[in-house]
Amino acid sequence: MQVNRSLQFPLMTDNPRLGWLLKEFRLIVNKSIRIANAGDIRSLGRLCRVAYADFSQDHEVLKQYISSAFQVALSLLKAHRRRLKKGRSSSLPYVRRPILKAGNQSFLLDRVTGRLRVPIRAREYFECTLPLGDWHRTFLNDSEWRIGSLTIVPDKVIVAMTRLAARPYAPRAAIALDTNEDSLDGVFVMGNHSKLITVPFQGVRRIQAVHFRRRRSLARKKRYDQRLARQLLRQEGLRERNRVGQRFHRVSKMLVRVARQCQAAIIVESLTLVGAGGRSRALNRRLSSWPRGEIHRQIEYKAALEGVPIIRVNPRNTSKTCPACGAVRRGRAGKVFMCACGWRMDRQLNAGLNILRTAVASNEALARAVRFQPGALREVV
Ligand SMILES: [Zn+2]
Repeated sequence: MQVNRSLQFPLMTDNPRLGWLLKEFRLIVNKSIRIANAGDIRSLGRLCRVAYADFSQDHEVLKQYISSAFQVALSLLKAHRRRLKKGRSSSLPYVRRPILKAGNQSFLLDRVTGRLRVPIRAREYFECTLPLGDWHRTFLNDSEWRIGSLTIVPDKVIVAMTRLAARPYAPRAAIALDTNEDSLDGVFVMGNHSKLITVPFQGVRRIQAVHFRRRRSLARKKRYDQRLARQLLRQEGLRERNRVGQRFHRVSKMLVRVARQCQAAIIVESLTLVGAGGRSRALNRRLSSWPRGEIHRQIEYKAALEGVPIIRVNPRNTSKTCPACGAVRRGRAGKVFMCACGWRMDRQLNAGLNILRTAVASNEALARAVRFQPGALREVV
């Protein structure tokens, strides 16, 4: 499995040749989108046969950029076709911002100095030095990370880095967690020993509430200037994401480190289930909220780098099932989950127990390593 990270750098230049290149690239992408759409072309090979000869005459850019533009166009078109197929409204994609996307054979990046050399066309180059920080150097100084593609937009340079994930170890323990608004809750199991755990998000809910209030009052104050309102709201949203994202990084880093020390697998609910249309509204909301997706994304890529196995389970009924007797409750559970068999447990922790139960039932390697005994936890409560 591959793990990807992208390194971003501010770009402060008004080099006219680079500006020209970005606009040419955008033009080729937009033309390719129209050609591929009109001819119902879906493969790079076919698009090349149809359009390459004309484009290489009309556009004096480096030849590799033309096929790179084809790839960008085809991937935009693919997303557009998928939206249409799902019955959603979608207009033919059109790239507004000047852009360049280059494969890793087309440009040179010195990993020590940050010197970047991007060809404009044959024997003509744009050069600049990327401001490398400590965080960037941890990737560039590590030869396991390979340089992937390069994306340039008018104010930014984005370098994609990729490396092979570490081979996951065979788990000797398990950490099963249910994802809630303000914490991850569940259970840690090693052999016969188990312990309830809660990993708090350090005030994420409070931050979200503050920003929600601020956004609402902004929208009210600026309701006579929609353009300004939209811009301010976007900034506000970005600020919120940064604050929340940073707290998630602390949590996910700590969790993956602990899992690795105990040689544990991390078990979370799967958010990528493609439902057959029969999903409840509550489940849909669980699967689509940003914080949930973000914390899982962070845990998953950090785990992949460290070789920590991740097991995803179907979140269906995890909040309604009794882990002791397996009965499924009807209706909403309160703060404390109660079952007719006498089982009582905090609702969020209970969901974590069910996530473990589902994983152990379907994963043999895990079932050999840990024993799921909810009865042992009963006394703790
Ligand atoms: Zn029960």
